[in-house]
Amino acid sequence: MHLKTLTLRGFKSFASATTLHLEPGITCVVGPNGSGKSNVVDALSWVMGEQGAKTLRGGNMADVIFAGTSSRPPLGRAEVSLTIDNADGALPIEYSEVTISRTLFRNGGSEYAINGSSCRLLDIQDLLSDSGLGREMHVIVGQGRLDSVLSASPEERRGFIEEAAGVLKHRKRKEKALRKLEAMAANLARVSDLTTEIR
Ligand code: ATP
Repeated sequence: MHLKTLTLRGFKSFASATTLHLEPGITCVVGPNGSGKSNVVDALSWVMGEQGAKTLRGGNMADVIFAGTSSRPPLGRAEVSLTIDNADGALPIEYSEVTISRTLFRNGGSEYAINGSSCRLLDIQDLLSDSGLGREMHVIVGQGRLDSVLSASPEERRGFIEEAAGVLKHRKRKEKALRKLEAMAANLARVSDLTTEIR
């Protein structure tokens, strides 16, 4: 599995559609300060499901949409697509090439797609979760991030290891199932009250 192309459209400083072609091996992005190198990495995190505006170095999620310059008006949407070579079947999907896309509209709406078919954020997170490209994004170590990993508490470190081992996905599912069970128990109690009242 390797990342093949990353296309940004209206994402941060990338107002026009820009496609980066990545080859297997090491890719270096070079450029002057403020030219958008970190924005490329932000786009990678974002398309893989990042939900934290702060992690993307913004105040809120709409900050990822091109905000305009003196010569170009702001845009109404940001769109990023990532194509992954899946010839080795590392991703649990029957395609040798997988494109995941994420779009955010300025009115707050968002869309996700896998190979052009609309899907939920959860589907993208599930698809990537066993591949090492997890939701917590430990595969992307940003500037200053190493410090925070080194000074993490034992609980936080356990979280990193669980993410890498693929345990986190099941823990989240368990938490979700438990919340559903609690809601179900509350509904059952309510039904039982009503039945008693009717009798
Ligand atoms: P450095 O080498 O200093 O870390 P860099 O090449 O990583 O810099 P980035 O941080 O990726 O640069 O890009 C910063 C630039 O992106 C700034 O000029 C900023 O104005 C621009 N930028 C960020 N968000 C937006 C946005 N929503 N709309 C337009 N431009 C944006």
